[in-house]
Amino acid sequence: MSSEDYPLDHILITGTEINYLFICSTKLWYFAKGITMEQESEWVDLGRFLHERRYGSEEKEVQVGRIKIDFIRKGDIIEVHEVKKSKSMEKAHEMQALYYLYYLKKLGINAKAVLHYPKLNETKEITLDGRENEIKKAIAEVKRIKSLPVPPEPVKSKKCLKCAYYELCWV
Ligand code: SF4
Repeated sequence: MSSEDYPLDHILITGTEINYLFICSTKLWYFAKGITMEQESEWVDLGRFLHERRYGSEEKEVQVGRIKIDFIRKGDIIEVHEVKKSKSMEKAHEMQALYYLYYLKKLGINAKAVLHYPKLNETKEITLDGRENEIKKAIAEVKRIKSLPVPPEPVKSKKCLKCAYYELCWV
């Protein structure tokens, strides 16, 4: 994978796509092609419920260009906050947050990210320090998968049981 430094208007990918890269490349491909079935998933509803209940007073779903952040707090440094329901996809959450930081940096905004796991009462801070190549490689891989004419071959795993694309892959 390359670690090219992309101009902002060449990135054209979303945080969800980066997230899905670290869950399943087949899922990423379906999503990138506009096939969205997540609204049928009870897990998405649970995530929304947790988010509304706990962070109801924060400014929510802040859209910055192609990225949509759960909420932002402004202190000495801009903080982007993402609320997640479990740590089972922790790497995907982390890379999504890293992408937000990379994207904001391209806009001249230095920020840090905070992942919230309200069910576990835990938070995790993420910074871009020393990790730009990691996110650039992820961007290159998302671009490669999105350019494929057919979805990558599905690989069955535990993740499939909670995936909205289960029927597309396995039925
Ligand atoms: S069902 Fe499994 S293989 Fe298919 S998209 Fe979902 S996680 Fe990937």
